[in-house]
Amino acid sequence: MLKLSTPITQIPRIQKRYQSKLAKLGIKRLEDLLFHIPARYDDFSRFKKIQDVEIGETVSIQGRVHDIENIRTWKKRMTLTEAIIEDDTGSIKVIWFNQSFLIRNIKKGDMISLSGKVTFSHDSLFLSSPSYEVIRMGSSSPTHTAGLVAVYPETAGITSRYLRYLIKALLPKTEVKDFLPETIKKEQRLVDLGKALLGVHSPKTLREAKDARHRLEFNELFLLQLFMLRERQKIKKEKSSKIPTNLERVKAFTASLPFTLTNDQKIAAWEILKDTEKETPMNRLLEGDVGSGKTVVAALAAGNAAHGGFQTAFMAPTEILAEQHFHEFTKLLSPFGITCALLTGNAGKIWDSDFEKLDMPRKDILAMLDQGEVHVITGTHALIEQRLSFKRLGLVVIDEQHRFGVEQRAKLTRQQEGKSKGTLPHFLSMSATPIPRTLALTIYGDLDISIIKEMPKERQKIITKIIPPALRKETYEFIRREIASGRQVFVICPLIEESEILEAKAATKEYERLSQEVFPHLKLGLLHGKIKPKEKERVMQDFKKGNVDILVSTSVVEVGIDIPNATVMLIEGAERFGLAQLHQFRGRVGRGKHQSTCFLFTDSSAQKTALRLKALVKAENGFELAEKDLAIRGPGDFTGVRQSGLPDISMTSLSNIALVKATKKEASLLLENDSGLNTHPALKEKLEEFERMIHLE
Ligand code: ADP
Ligand code: MG
Repeated sequence: MLKLSTPITQIPRIQKRYQSKLAKLGIKRLEDLLFHIPARYDDFSRFKKIQDVEIGETVSIQGRVHDIENIRTWKKRMTLTEAIIEDDTGSIKVIWFNQSFLIRNIKKGDMISLSGKVTFSHDSLFLSSPSYEVIRMGSSSPTHTAGLVAVYPETAGITSRYLRYLIKALLPKTEVKDFLPETIKKEQRLVDLGKALLGVHSPKTLREAKDARHRLEFNELFLLQLFMLRERQKIKKEKSSKIPTNLERVKAFTASLPFTLTNDQKIAAWEILKDTEKETPMNRLLEGDVGSGKTVVAALAAGNAAHGGFQTAFMAPTEILAEQHFHEFTKLLSPFGITCALLTGNAGKIWDSDFEKLDMPRKDILAMLDQGEVHVITGTHALIEQRLSFKRLGLVVIDEQHRFGVEQRAKLTRQQEGKSKGTLPHFLSMSATPIPRTLALTIYGDLDISIIKEMPKERQKIITKIIPPALRKETYEFIRREIASGRQVFVICPLIEESEILEAKAATKEYERLSQEVFPHLKLGLLHGKIKPKEKERVMQDFKKGNVDILVSTSVVEVGIDIPNATVMLIEGAERFGLAQLHQFRGRVGRGKHQSTCFLFTDSSAQKTALRLKALVKAENGFELAEKDLAIRGPGDFTGVRQSGLPDISMTSLSNIALVKATKKEASLLLENDSGLNTHPALKEKLEEFERMIHLE
C-alpha cells in the first residue's frame, strides 16, 4: 500500500517529466494529488445512438472505428485526423485538429467511446475534437467518456485526462486513514474519507459527488476551527497585566477631541478597556471602514495604559503610515504628558509636550524605552524583529496585520524584568478590510471582534463614477479644474497579479504618460513598491505638503494615508480589484471639507464587471460591499483569506454558513471534552500537519 505522505517522485507510475508539472499545481505528495478536487463534472451518462444525434448538441456515442487517417490541409496548414465511427444505427465522421498522433492510439476496428459537439459543415455532420477513449477487450468501464467525468482545474501540460488516469490507478493502492471521530461522522452524516475520495473523483451520480465534496470541505473547515479554538485556549492560559481603566482620564481625553466619538467608536473603546482590565491577554480585532476612526480608539487605549504606567507599541505596515500615526498620537496624547516616539530603520523621532519634534539617534530612543520614558512607540511591523527592551509593555496595537501569535508576543516582551516578567501584552489588531461576519468568525476565530460600522457624521458622501474609455478626456478636464482650485489627485494603476515589478513598471509608464502628454504643466509624483523607503517618504511628504498635484501610485497607498486636500481618486483597470479594495482606495479621499469624486476607469464591458462596479457606486458601507464581494467573487479575494494559505476547497466552503456553523460546533464540543484531542491520535496528528501548512499572517 502507498501512503498519503509518499512523495510523487517515489511513485514509478508518475513519469519524471510530469513530476515537475504536478509540482507547479502544488502536488508534491500523493495526498496532494488525491485531494486535488475536480472543478466540475461532465455528464456523459447516456450514450446516444448515432442516428439520433442532433446538430449543436454535446453527445456521447459508442461505436467501432471504421476508418481513421491524417489529412493535411494546405490552405490552413493544419493536420486533420478524420475517422468514421459506426454503431448499429449508422455512422458519423469525427474530426480532430492538429493531433496527428491520434492515429497511433486509435486503430481501425477499435471499439471507442467519444464525447463532443455535433457540428455541421460542408454538407455533413461530424463530431468536432471529441474526447475519446478506446475500449480494450476486458478493460473496466471507461474513465473519460462515460458517466460523470471529473474535470480538474486546468494547467499547462497536465490534462484532466491524465489526472483521471493517475488518480484512478493510485487511489485503490493508497492507504487512507480517516481521522474524523466516528461520533462526528455520525452526527453530521458524513461519508468515510476513503469513500469520499472515490466519490469525488469518479462519482456514479452527482449526489455521490456532492456528498463526497461535502465531506472534504468539512475536513478543512473543521481543522481550521479546531486550530482557531486551540489558539484561543492557548492565549487564555497566558497571563498579562491588568491595566486599570481610569474613567476620569478617559473622559478628559474624549473631551479634548475636536469631535464627539461615534457610538461604534465608544462601544469599541469600551470593549477594549474592559479587556485590558483583565489578567488574561486581550486578543481583539478592531474592524472598521477606512476613515471610520480606528486610530483615535487605539490612542484612547494607549493613553489609558500610559496613565496606568504601561507602555504601548504601535505597529504600522509602512514607514509612511508609522510616521502618520506617530503624528496623530502625539497630537492626541502629548497634551496629557504622554511621550510618543517613532522608530524607523536607523532613525528615531520623538516629540513630547515640552519639545518640538526632535530627530534622535535610535539608541537614545531605545534607552528611553527601556527606562519607561517613552510611553507610546510607533514603528513598522519590523519593530518586532528587533530586540526592544521595554520597562513595562502593556499593549500592542498593530495596524493592518491581523494576527499575532503567542510566540511573536512573547518575543516582544522577552526582556522584560520586574513586575511584568512572564506576562504577555494585551493585543489589539486593526483592519480596514471589512470581512463578512461568517468569514470573520472562522478565519479570525481566535480573536474577539469589535466593529465600527458607523462613519463620523459630518463625512461627505463621495461621488463614484464608472468611466468608459470614451469619457477619459472629459475626466482629465475635470481633474485639471480640481487642481486649478487647489485640490489634489490620486491615480491608482491597475493590479497585476502577483508581480510587484510589473506593477511598478505600469505605474512608471502611466506617470510618464500623464506628466508628458496629459498634464505637462502640473506636478506629478510617483509611488510604487520598488521605490526606496527614503524616496517614498519624500514623495509622500511632498504630496502631503501640497507640492505635488497628482500622485500616481500602485496599490501601496491602499492603507491608511490621510490627505484631506485630495478630492479625486482615479482608478485605472478598476475591474481588476476587489470591491472591498476599491472601497478602500475610495476612502483615501473625502476626508476634508471639499466634495470628493472617485473615478473607476474600465475597459471591460463584461456583465459581471458592470455589476460589481455598480455595487460600489451604490454602497457606502464596506461591510455591505464585503458581503457582495463574497457573493460575486468568493472568499478567496479577501485579504487575509488568500494569504492564509488555506487550500482552495476551504476557500469556497468558507461562504457556506451552515458548514461553518456545523464545523464550529463539532470543534468546540470536541475541545470542551476533557480528554479532547488525546483520545483521537489520528486527528491530533492531522491537526498538527494542518498547522504546519497554514501560515497565519
Ligand atoms: P481609520 O479608521 O481609517 O484608521 P482614522 O483613524 O485615520 O481612520 O480617522 C480618519 C479621520 O477621521 C481622522 O482625521 C480622524 O481624526 C477623524 N475622526 C475620527 N473619529 C471621528 C469622529 N468621531 N468624528 C469626526 N472625525 C473623526
Ligand atoms: Mg487607519
